[in-house]
Amino acid sequence: MTQTSALAVAPSETRSVGPQARAWLDANLPDALREDMLQDNKPTVADLCDWEARLHKAGLVGSTWPEAYGGRGLGLRAHLDISREIGRTPMPESVNSIGKELAGPIIMAVGREDQKLDYLPAILEMRDIWCQGFSEPNAGSDLAGLRTKAEKTADGWVVNGQKIWTSGASKSSRCLLLARTGSVEDRHRGLVLFALRTDTPGVDIREIQSIDGERSFCEVFFNNVVIPEEDMLGSPDEGWAAATRVLSIERATNRMHRSWRFENQLNHLVSACAANPATRKLVEVDYARQLADVSVNIDLLKGHVETLVGSLIDGNEIGPRGSLPKLFWSEAHQNFATLALEIVSRFPPDMSDPLRAVRRRMEDIYMKARAETIYAGTTEIQLGIIAKRILKLNQGK
Ligand SMILES: Cc1cc2nc3c(=O)[nH]c(=O)nc-3n(C[C@H](O)[C@H](O)[C@H](O)COP(=O)(O)OP(=O)(O)OC[C@H]3O[C@@H](n4cnc5c(N)ncnc54)[C@H](O)[C@@H]3O)c2cc1C
Repeated sequence: MTQTSALAVAPSETRSVGPQARAWLDANLPDALREDMLQDNKPTVADLCDWEARLHKAGLVGSTWPEAYGGRGLGLRAHLDISREIGRTPMPESVNSIGKELAGPIIMAVGREDQKLDYLPAILEMRDIWCQGFSEPNAGSDLAGLRTKAEKTADGWVVNGQKIWTSGASKSSRCLLLARTGSVEDRHRGLVLFALRTDTPGVDIREIQSIDGERSFCEVFFNNVVIPEEDMLGSPDEGWAAATRVLSIERATNRMHRSWRFENQLNHLVSACAANPATRKLVEVDYARQLADVSVNIDLLKGHVETLVGSLIDGNEIGPRGSLPKLFWSEAHQNFATLALEIVSRFPPDMSDPLRAVRRRMEDIYMKARAETIYAGTTEIQLGIIAKRILKLNQGK
């Protein structure tokens, strides 16, 4: 199918691209990808890749990336406009958010020109799915304790070690891999970042099943894996600076659509219950105040995102302030998920299809939300960063 961009705006224009994005999504989002409808079969990775490639062709992905790398060359404000519209739909999360939102920006920041031309269009066109190989069995919150070793040889680098909790590794063709060139005592010095091909000999990926029944988590083992020099990102000493930059993006602006998707989930729950006499009282009386609280949190979250975008447009760095939206979003969404599960658990056994659809969606959200206060830095770590780096409290040291 031929398809032209949904966005008829030039990079220099300042008008909102939101209405065009909304019109395209309204016309093109297939029912089979709507998480607010009952689905007999979950979409496959291939279905999701097709859809995301279409989003890219329509100009709704990679909006801020330079045109030379497959993007649209628009500003952050346009990205926010599009993110709002994406969030307002019940579409699935991207299977390549690590490529688009973490690896892409880092490649643009530290990559060579030939790497940018090679890796970046492949991410947007969904030819390469990326995973993030940072955490290890003894290096999660304390990432500087990682042990995976990269040794320089005549052929490039030889890597040995193990990663864990590598989301989507078994579906990925590239891994943003953080390894160390020196000893563990060097901590954040001597860390190096690679764009590793996951089909390289010596890479052993093993899936782990999580409580939602999915097998997206993986352990990844490296046994004398040879990585060519041209797949190193930045210099051997730039790994820590790049990794902390990845983490600040992950905490602050990754999945910018989150607050609007959260609102879509709340609206789905409320409207499905209110439309049915058997469940109307649940939302209109029994849980009305808690649902109102959720709505206030969503508005605050939207404000957080809009303020951050404004600050980035003014040329400021995200830095430790990225911990604020990460902490608030994960806690607020997890509380909503617990409330939603309680509400759907009170549905009558002979429920209608729309109630069955909302119950299935809320159960899924509940399972996934358990991890939200862990990944991209735990709640305790965010509180520590806010105490130390924003409030300047020395915490007993
Ligand atoms: C769904 C999910 C997806 C993930 N995807 C990826 C991925 O794709 N790639 C990747 O590299 N990693 C990924 N991770 C790993 C994630 O980054 C780590 O789980 C996280 O950083 C916590 O590390 P840990 O599990 O080793 O726990 P630990 O660091 O061992 O923490 C255990 C507990 O101790 C607390 N704690 C630790 N240090 C302190 C401290 N200094 N002060 C106070 N409390 C502390 C923590 O808050 C936590 O409650 C993912 C995790 C999840 C849950």
